[in-house]
Amino acid sequence: MQRLPGIAVSPGVAIGEALVLDHEGIRIPRRFLARGATEAELARLDRAIADATAEVEHNRERIAEQLGSDYGAIFSAHVQMLNDPRLRQELEELIRERHYSPEYSVSRVLRRYAKVFQALESDHLAERASDIFDIERRLLKHLLGERRGEIAHLDRQAIVLSRELTPSETANMNPEFVQAFATEIGGPGSHTAIVAEGLGIPAVVGLGPFVSEVSGGETVIIDGDAGVVIIQPDEETLARYRSIIEDQKSASVELAKLGDLPAVTTDGVTIQILGNIEFPSEIPLCLERGAVGIGLYRTEFLYLKGDTEPNEVEHYAAYKEVAEALGDKPVVMRTVDLGADKLSMLPQPEDERNPFLGLRSIRLALKYLDMFRTQLRAILRVSAEGNVRIMFPLISNLIELRRAKMVLADAMEDLQEEGIAFNRNIQVGMMVEVPSAVIMLDQFVQEVDFFSIGTNDLVQYTLAVDRSNKDVAALYTSADPAVLRLIKISLDVAKAHDKPISLCGQMSGAPIYTMLLLGLGLRAFSVTAAAIPEIKQVIRAVSIAHCEQVAQRALKLESARDVKTYLREELSRVAPDIVI
Ligand code: PEP
Ligand code: MG
Repeated sequence: MQRLPGIAVSPGVAIGEALVLDHEGIRIPRRFLARGATEAELARLDRAIADATAEVEHNRERIAEQLGSDYGAIFSAHVQMLNDPRLRQELEELIRERHYSPEYSVSRVLRRYAKVFQALESDHLAERASDIFDIERRLLKHLLGERRGEIAHLDRQAIVLSRELTPSETANMNPEFVQAFATEIGGPGSHTAIVAEGLGIPAVVGLGPFVSEVSGGETVIIDGDAGVVIIQPDEETLARYRSIIEDQKSASVELAKLGDLPAVTTDGVTIQILGNIEFPSEIPLCLERGAVGIGLYRTEFLYLKGDTEPNEVEHYAAYKEVAEALGDKPVVMRTVDLGADKLSMLPQPEDERNPFLGLRSIRLALKYLDMFRTQLRAILRVSAEGNVRIMFPLISNLIELRRAKMVLADAMEDLQEEGIAFNRNIQVGMMVEVPSAVIMLDQFVQEVDFFSIGTNDLVQYTLAVDRSNKDVAALYTSADPAVLRLIKISLDVAKAHDKPISLCGQMSGAPIYTMLLLGLGLRAFSVTAAAIPEIKQVIRAVSIAHCEQVAQRALKLESARDVKTYLREELSRVAPDIVI
């Protein structure tokens, strides 16, 4: 049994079979042959070699016809390698003597060859490694048929272990089959983490190197609450976790009952709970749990799920689905927030050394104006039919906001000329997630209809800590006194000018901060569906008067650690059953 500590980023516990995803796709788990199956399996291997060879020969002829025989010769090397008697002999030994499946034997032997080439000093020889991976892929395709799919096409339940998962890979996971995942790198505020929570997939990131030690097929426990991964757990640990899973099931049934109850404090103040979504499919759960609308729709996931840039029709279809699912409840559609860790099919800047400080978010939208206009047109068109608002992300100065509004005004004018309906009085808001925006908020207040504080970025820009880097994860915390002060300023300025303000960063979905935020004056929490029940439970257990005292005290503390310890204590008094 191996117990690995990491960073808990998406709650829940899962027990399942490890599926290792590495650079070359899904790693083949070590499987053993049934007694007496050896000869049939060797015959299957030979068929796969013959079929793969025929496929390469066919490619050679096709390319030779089109480009000349020199090019066709590249494939000869592949044919030779596939039919190398030493390779065949090594595979046979593993199958006969160790009883490994042909799939595992092929994967093991060829990856070992590839690693040898990769380690060579010569670039030319190192490149041969990709030829070997190609042969491996080809043989596996013939051994496994179409079963060897990518992560998006998993057809059985598994726990995914990988060095890294991008937000778009995560967005393409099917929660029905991916029970949980764990990665070597990644930090607490990464979008991979946020998507996992949105999809309800338990996840632990930032574990450091461990994937090379796992062959796949082992039993694994992912504890997304404690931030722990256990490989090949012993019986006692398995039994303990099975009972934790049962307890969680009954606790979530209890929490679900809160769905219909209002989010009102004990002294009668109604608090708005809104949902955060990446996909329209998340709306029903938000509503079931009592969200009064959607406070953050991260529309960029439309870009991250497909291979091509969505056109206006696709944008419109997605937004219409959202508006229809919500009826007359409001939805804040945030315009594309691509760049940094949310990469898409857009051309990547060549020299982006600090992606989070570079061409991301509204800056990228203002560079690719056609893309931006296409999206704005689609949002505007849906605004004729639903309760839709627009929000611009990562605004860092007034001119940027004005430029974004100008593009919006142009889009409106075009629609007007084309006779297409839209809501001319659509509310326009901005994210407050860069310290400069907080400092200048009294000026921004004149130019927008509402604000939403994005603590995920506000924390990273205030504290100069990369939200997706495990090595500085300990510094990345919303509890830092500097962050608390910036939130207080934002809430105070908005209140003084009677401007609606919500908080849609992960902080608003963490129960440890609920009393503090209420005490600082927050009245609209925008959170993932997963977080709604607990946040509502805390709201219903506290009075604003008490929360104000808590906030005052917290603001006087010197360090994030002190703030957390204090808030944990206060929370345990009002909601002792919430584990944080
Ligand atoms: C934030 O920064 O807090 C936020 C909500 O935006 P995102 O996490 O998508 O960057
Ligand atoms: Mg942000």
